[in-house]
Amino acid sequence: MREIVVKSNKRTELIDITDGVDEVVAGYRVGEGIALIFTKHTTTSLIVNEYEPGLVSDIEAFLGALIPDLDYKHDRIDNNADSHLRSILLQSSLSIPVNKGRLDLGTWQRVILVELDGPRNRTVTVSVSREG
Ligand code: ZN
Repeated sequence: MREIVVKSNKRTELIDITDGVDEVVAGYRVGEGIALIFTKHTTTSLIVNEYEPGLVSDIEAFLGALIPDLDYKHDRIDNNADSHLRSILLQSSLSIPVNKGRLDLGTWQRVILVELDGPRNRTVTVSVSREG
């Protein structure tokens, strides 16, 4: 299992981490297998989608509209309940096929870390299992 550290710059931010993850995957030297990508935080998530600026902005607005910043109980101790609630709508891990030692993504697919309570340094782990 290897780690990458991602620095976010905004409270809610989508960060394209595809190249960093793919570099780590290549280091495993596994021809075919499965990459497991995991975020070790309760206020981040991982998604696979297109990283187009308009869509990135739409997703950020969509998450805000789904979970407005109301008066939540958790805010009494941490003031980030909305971040936790947004993160449970998404996921903390991704499984992506590995082919010829690299992430086998579709043309428009990118691996995106969704920061929901930044700015902070975040840790994402990457492990690769050989197929068969
Ligand atoms: Zn919290």
